[in-house]
Amino acid sequence: MQHIATTYRIDLPAWLGDELAHVPDVIEEPSDRMRLVHRLADRNWREGSGGPFAALVAERDTGRIISVGVNVVLAGGVSSGHAEVVALGLAQTRRGTWDLGAAGAPAHELVVNWRPCIQCYGATLWSGVRSLVVAGEGPDLEEITTFDEGPLGDDWAEQFERRGIHVVTDVLREEALAVFRAYRQSIDRGGPTVYNARQGDTEETP
Ligand SMILES: [Zn+2]
Repeated sequence: MQHIATTYRIDLPAWLGDELAHVPDVIEEPSDRMRLVHRLADRNWREGSGGPFAALVAERDTGRIISVGVNVVLAGGVSSGHAEVVALGLAQTRRGTWDLGAAGAPAHELVVNWRPCIQCYGATLWSGVRSLVVAGEGPDLEEITTFDEGPLGDDWAEQFERRGIHVVTDVLREEALAVFRAYRQSIDRGGPTVYNARQGDTEETP
């Protein structure tokens, strides 16, 4: 074999530098952390970097921001480049460890603008974060955007809790839906690519 790739990398889009230039290192108010996530998610799809998703990792108790991530599937050409995976990887890189829950480390929190997809569910479980904060859950995301989030069990939050990851939902939920709706309206006008639309299984839930 002579033509295999031996490395791949994930880069945050260049526009994030401008966007974060005036964001403080510490965001004490949890809802303000989500507000930042929504802002990044909205700009992300408008810039063509990927889907309307963003995430950040913070120290839960102090609000110190350790990393941010956005969906870079389109910009990076890697299907796993979801916001959560990017934010967790960058946080672990900054901390110098694969385990954000290592002994002596502050409790880390992952903040995302919707319940993770099935891939990011696993990534979150293995990351060492002690809490997950999401703007919302439920079918709204898939209905509005047509993204396929995968077959996640109804007990997803319970499984997190059993592994010591506290789940907080419904933080600025309407603001999340507003981002998804703006994205969808743009698609309907022939705008951005939906790279992972639901296909085949079009069964409607009542
Ligand atoms: Zn995901």
